[in-house]
Amino acid sequence: GDVRLERVRENVWEIPREGRMNAPARVFASEQLLEQIADDKTLQQLRNATHLPGVVGRAICMPDGHQGYGFPVGGVAATDAETGCISPGGIGYDINCGVRMMRTNLTYDDVEGREEELVESLFANVPSGLGGGGIVEGDRETIEAILARGVDWALEHGYAVADDLAHCEDEGMRHDADPEAVSQKAKDRGKNQIGSLGSGNHFLEVQRVTDVYRPDVAEAFGLEPDQIVVLIHCGSRGLGHQICSDYLRRIEETHGDLLESLPDKELAAAPAGSALAEEYYGAMCAAINFAWVNRQLIMHRTRRVFERVFDRDWEAMEMELLYDVAHNIGKREVHEVPVNERGQPTAVGDAVDTAERELYVHRKGATRAFPAGRPEVPKAYRDVGQPIIIPGSMGAGSYVLRGGERSLELSFGSTAHGAGRTMSRTQAKNEFWGETVQDELRDQEKIYVKAQSGATVAEEAPGVYKDVDEVVRVSDELGIGDKVARTYPVCNIKG
Ligand code: 5GP
Ligand code: MN
Ligand code: MN
Repeated sequence: GDVRLERVRENVWEIPREGRMNAPARVFASEQLLEQIADDKTLQQLRNATHLPGVVGRAICMPDGHQGYGFPVGGVAATDAETGCISPGGIGYDINCGVRMMRTNLTYDDVEGREEELVESLFANVPSGLGGGGIVEGDRETIEAILARGVDWALEHGYAVADDLAHCEDEGMRHDADPEAVSQKAKDRGKNQIGSLGSGNHFLEVQRVTDVYRPDVAEAFGLEPDQIVVLIHCGSRGLGHQICSDYLRRIEETHGDLLESLPDKELAAAPAGSALAEEYYGAMCAAINFAWVNRQLIMHRTRRVFERVFDRDWEAMEMELLYDVAHNIGKREVHEVPVNERGQPTAVGDAVDTAERELYVHRKGATRAFPAGRPEVPKAYRDVGQPIIIPGSMGAGSYVLRGGERSLELSFGSTAHGAGRTMSRTQAKNEFWGETVQDELRDQEKIYVKAQSGATVAEEAPGVYKDVDEVVRVSDELGIGDKVARTYPVCNIKG
């Protein structure tokens, strides 16, 4: 593309501020990853995001970045919560798409040879695919309660234990949720999808721990080599998607003047303090609660499946939630940021000082990565930093990291969220054939994949993703998220 990029140092590249940019931007990537990132519209989209009013510090693209709706996936942009704005495209359609990891005390020996039985049973019991049908049938009252209270609702109804809440970001409940700001259409779409994976990129994967890099932190996370863990990736289904569409349309209609000042219509944003900014924030937080309940119900169902397959109680198998992270989210958070002479948060170049200020932190395809000591980190992990979960692909490793010491200073406390795509789904279907991919994974890697369709497997073939080892290496070298352990797939169900 035509985006000017300067090398700052190893793994750090800058798009200098020019024209109508409100701040510079940075890409965190090795040369190898940068080449892939520069291959689509990611860099233009990153530069476009700096045109948002009130953007603070710099806009950032993570090493797994690729092009998305308006903003890059793998993008982080923070704006001043008083004078900035909130942009649904900077959060994404699948609000609170995220991953949770559940530990077990099983080892690979316990599962080896029984993969097919396990994968069949998971596939039969965990709702997936485009169609309707979830674990819970939601009437009006149920959906309202889930939107308002998140995993607290699941606790009340026997789908969660207290420990599950303690090990979830925000304890599985955003108090800022406003169910009244969610349209009836969105609620109707969510009603029969409560506890369902959805399609495509979403999955449930049984994995084994292959490597431990920081034994002390791994111990705090309860991870050790050969251990079986379960990774669940899904989001807020049709409900979140509908909320994003609803508010994009309303924001475009109401804040056309702001839209005019932006280089891309997909960046549509509501000014901080406006009625629509508040309403969208409340609706988005309700979708966050919905997605947490979604992952909780799937985890609960997974415990039941393991009980049947291994003929023991889930408590005896110590199937505890390690952590749940959101990777499509916008949050009001307090950060130490550059400020101008009036004490307002500003771009790095315009700063005379720094101060603690409240921001709207947009993380789209990016994971919060708070280091030890931040009050938001659950008590169990406060001394070591929050767990970060970075999935790779159905044929590659995935990683557990911990929030790095430099994340607050470099990336508003954020890191990558995956390996990141290198090709579109259409391209993937031309390159790969689902059944062949499945056969090869089983015969060569002993990985058992079951999916709703062959097309899904082709679209999500390991070859469509960047090198996750490289993504995680960059995060670790920068000190924003430190490697703790690596896992490898055993069996996988795909939507
Ligand atoms: P996204 O939320 O952007 O769709 O995906 C997050 C990341 O999940 C992707 O960037 C990719 O690295 C990873 N991923 C996609 N499919 C699978 C899978 O089947 N298994 C694992 N372990 N990771 C996957
Ligand atoms: Mn998603
Ligand atoms: Mn996701």
